[in-house]
Amino acid sequence: MSTGHSHPGEAKPALCPAESMLKPKLTDLTFNGLCFFTEELADEIRYYAGQGASDDEWSDAQAMCVVEEAGEFIAAYRRARGFARRAGDRKEVTAELADVIISALLMFAVLDEDAQCHVKAKLFNVVSRGYVNKE
Ligand SMILES: [Mg+2]
Repeated sequence: MSTGHSHPGEAKPALCPAESMLKPKLTDLTFNGLCFFTEELADEIRYYAGQGASDDEWSDAQAMCVVEEAGEFIAAYRRARGFARRAGDRKEVTAELADVIISALLMFAVLDEDAQCHVKAKLFNVVSRGYVNKE
């Protein structure tokens, strides 16, 4: 499985930078902008963190990240709601929920799929199917 988002004209340094070279590009926070950004981020992560991994291993790792972040979200939610030994707060909940979205967008990039297209199709289904009728 290939990301299909390589940028041959953009040379990367051999050593991992202290922070992402994409940081200055994080300006467009529309859904489309986030999708494009995470495609580039997936390429950068693949380059620096995924070296030595096969495409399937890289995909597996990203798939596991989606579920890992979902687990971190529910753990933060439990803490914030008082269902865990340690207390938490809303800021931790929203930060972990953001991680879920980011990891999901990264997974779309790894699958070389258009996140916006798939989300739009699912939302269309949600608004077309009606809601639970308990009468
Ligand atoms: Mg997290």
